[in-house]
Amino acid sequence: MKNRTIAAIATPNAPGGIGIVRISGENAVEIAAKIFHPVSGKALTESRGYCAHFGEVFDNNEKIDEAVCLVFRAPRSYTGEDTAEISCHGGLYITKRVLRAALEAGAAPAEAGEFTKRAFINGKIDLAAAESVMALIGASGKQAAAAALNTLDGNLSREIRKCADNIIGVCASLAAWVDYPDEDIEDTDAGDMLPVFTETRTALADIIRRYDCGRAVTDGIDAVIVGRPNVGKSTLMNMLTGFERSIVTDIAGTTRDVVEERIVLGEIVMRIADTAGIRETENVVENIGVSLAKRRLERAELVLAVFDGSEALTADDCDIMEQCRGKRAVALLNKTDLPVAADREIINAAFSHVVELSASTGEGRDELEKAVRKIFSTDEFDPNAACLTSERQRQCCVNAMTHIDEAIAALNTGVTLDAVNVCADCAIDALLELTGEKATSAVVDEVFSRFCVGK
Ligand code: GDP
Repeated sequence: MKNRTIAAIATPNAPGGIGIVRISGENAVEIAAKIFHPVSGKALTESRGYCAHFGEVFDNNEKIDEAVCLVFRAPRSYTGEDTAEISCHGGLYITKRVLRAALEAGAAPAEAGEFTKRAFINGKIDLAAAESVMALIGASGKQAAAAALNTLDGNLSREIRKCADNIIGVCASLAAWVDYPDEDIEDTDAGDMLPVFTETRTALADIIRRYDCGRAVTDGIDAVIVGRPNVGKSTLMNMLTGFERSIVTDIAGTTRDVVEERIVLGEIVMRIADTAGIRETENVVENIGVSLAKRRLERAELVLAVFDGSEALTADDCDIMEQCRGKRAVALLNKTDLPVAADREIINAAFSHVVELSASTGEGRDELEKAVRKIFSTDEFDPNAACLTSERQRQCCVNAMTHIDEAIAALNTGVTLDAVNVCADCAIDALLELTGEKATSAVVDEVFSRFCVGK
């Protein structure tokens, strides 16, 4: 069956200098030619690949824009298909109008991630690399972008493929032995297999560890700011975001909703929530805010617990310390631009990480960054090493490791070699699911459903 030719706007839905409408599929250039006329008078359909044409865009004979049309010829394009990219003037109206003209000329609207899905199906990239495209688009910092680019380059897939090949190598004679037990096949030696399984397991464990310690950099972390009223939570939120996001007043109970923002602290991306002050109160509305704050505190990956350094600690402060117990948390002794009256000893005893700062002046921000880096071991993160970019990939690695563990256990306990063979096969399948070589269409659909339209 012929593939539909698809079209979508590839640039953000916002005013901008240039907007790109991408058309890909067997009829891409024919469809583009119906709406785009090169000023040179040459037929676009005759264009070679890698050619740019200046011309005019028409919708039902009405000229709607001047634009540049790039032509790519299969297989030398992002999708591996014939592709035309019309770079028109950016903006909310023009790009939509050009897209509509392309659809009326015969293209079908692209689904989320369909261009990259086609690149995957046409063998231009593997599944791990396709996922890194989204990671690259979503990257908020230098390290996250470097790690995603690294995976896009195929570093991860090469390392995973090496793991799979090692197991395949050692199991080849095993599989033959299992399939043809009566044939005179060279003796399979369990002693040869064990080191390969162990080494592969170590390599996978390393990849997972790198992902876990780099997650703060690649995915970002969910953090919450908590503290009793008036300790400076909203001021801290504003200091971290760099603008007035939360309302700062001396009136206790001003923040009732949870205010959320994305911030970048050094290389770490945080989705940070400023919450209502936690205190004992009879006020029904305020109590709702307090409950919301407590719930946020429970599920956050990082708690920033703020205390007013200029005052003695209160029962509400102690209640908050109690709730932070066992959580990844940083105690922030705020208002240190004023004389310190809070008992540092109590705070030091309750938290492994204490930072003194002044949310008003910004003093202490670097120390906060250092503490968060330490908690999430981000200094150990090496964006140049093979890096997982999604939970799906992590799960594939974990599954492969579990099957390798089973194979090792089977070898050690002297269980029959067919059992070892089954475990090894499952481990290989898990690794090939990661790269996409053996992923089911449901897995592939799930991966691309998380993409944006136009990518
Ligand atoms: P929240 O209720 O915890 O969100 O506290 P706010 O951020 O609204 O701050 C309460 C009061 O403390 C405001 O008057 C702030 O200006 C003041 N404040 C906050 N942080 C600091 C600080 O670092 N130093 C000083 N001197 N005052 C601060």
